[in-house]
Amino acid sequence: MVLVYSDDKKLTLELLNKGKELAKELHKKVIAVCIGHDSFAKDYLEHGADSVIAAEADLHTFKAEEYASILEKIVKENNVEVVLIGSNKNGKELAARLSAKLDTGCVTDCTNVYVKDKKIVTERMVYSGNAIAVEQFLSHPQIVTIPPKAFNPLPKTEGHKGEVIKKKYDFERSPSKITKVQEMKTEGVNVEDAEIIVSCGRGFKNKDDIRLVRELADALKGRTIGCSRPIAADLKWLSEDHWIGLSGHKVKPKLYIACGISGQIQHIAGMRDSGVVVAINKDPEALIFKSADYGIVGDLYQVLPKLTNAIREKMG
Ligand SMILES: Cc1cc2nc3c(=O)[nH]c(=O)nc-3n(C[C@H](O)[C@H](O)[C@H](O)COP(=O)(O)OP(=O)(O)OC[C@H]3O[C@@H](n4cnc5c(N)ncnc54)[C@H](O)[C@@H]3O)c2cc1C
Repeated sequence: MVLVYSDDKKLTLELLNKGKELAKELHKKVIAVCIGHDSFAKDYLEHGADSVIAAEADLHTFKAEEYASILEKIVKENNVEVVLIGSNKNGKELAARLSAKLDTGCVTDCTNVYVKDKKIVTERMVYSGNAIAVEQFLSHPQIVTIPPKAFNPLPKTEGHKGEVIKKKYDFERSPSKITKVQEMKTEGVNVEDAEIIVSCGRGFKNKDDIRLVRELADALKGRTIGCSRPIAADLKWLSEDHWIGLSGHKVKPKLYIACGISGQIQHIAGMRDSGVVVAINKDPEALIFKSADYGIVGDLYQVLPKLTNAIREKMG
């Protein structure tokens, strides 16, 4: 069996595509798991799952220990060989705890997974994106976490037949107690799903100047703005949901416009899968031009208003 789990439905659909491919090669079935509900079971079946296990359990706030305890039982009961878990914050903690419980290996943030000699091989970026580590499992079951957008979901097959197994699971209660949940301050931006992103970096002198980026994004009807780490983390001119890169969000828009961004590897790691990349930088030697399809060498304070006006005229 190949097991697929994430608390994010969209990510689960992406994992199902890879899970199905691996299951086919290993002559196994792919099962998706819902924990604490069965709301997405039909969608999972229609996007490739052979069956869905809906684990009924008395759960409240997410605690990785408790979810790992449930998954451990499911893995053992179903003789699961490969576990694919969505690589978000909860998923990475869950995968690490599950691998400890099962005394097996775990590879996180894989951008490619395939079968070689009946074993799973993973690929992931290391050294801030300067190299790709290719690793093969020696232990069993094989646990892999996969970030959003690494794979596309399979197209929906209406009425796909498959079993939904509802089962109650007892689990090990966590000894920890959550005393307060505080929501992170965000501006509700979703750079990961954006088709057009205009991004700003330290080439901007003041917070107010970021309006130049907003105006260009509006003219392109994209409306999504992103930024390099210093803008969100150090200067705090934008909230962290705009932050793109290795330690921020990984994005895959059709168009990415980098304004006043030098193009350090940690930034490139988050936007290298973009369709068309346009870079605006006053330094002709800036690294960002190596990752760009179109480069404009110039002062962004002069280039951006002109570009925005030209696009407004063209797009009406
Ligand atoms: C572990 C680790 C993780 C990291 N994760 C991330 C991450 O997720 N995302 C990220 O972005 N960074 C990350 N960084 C930081 C990264 O290394 C760079 O420091 C950062 O990306 C630089 O941001 P910047 O390009 O905005 O600024 P700078 O490097 O200062 O570049 C500013 C650019 O603006 C240009 N410029 C200046 N004035 C103008 C003007 N008037 N017109 C046009 N161009 C102008 C300059 O020529 C320069 O190229 C990480 C670093 C580490 C060590």
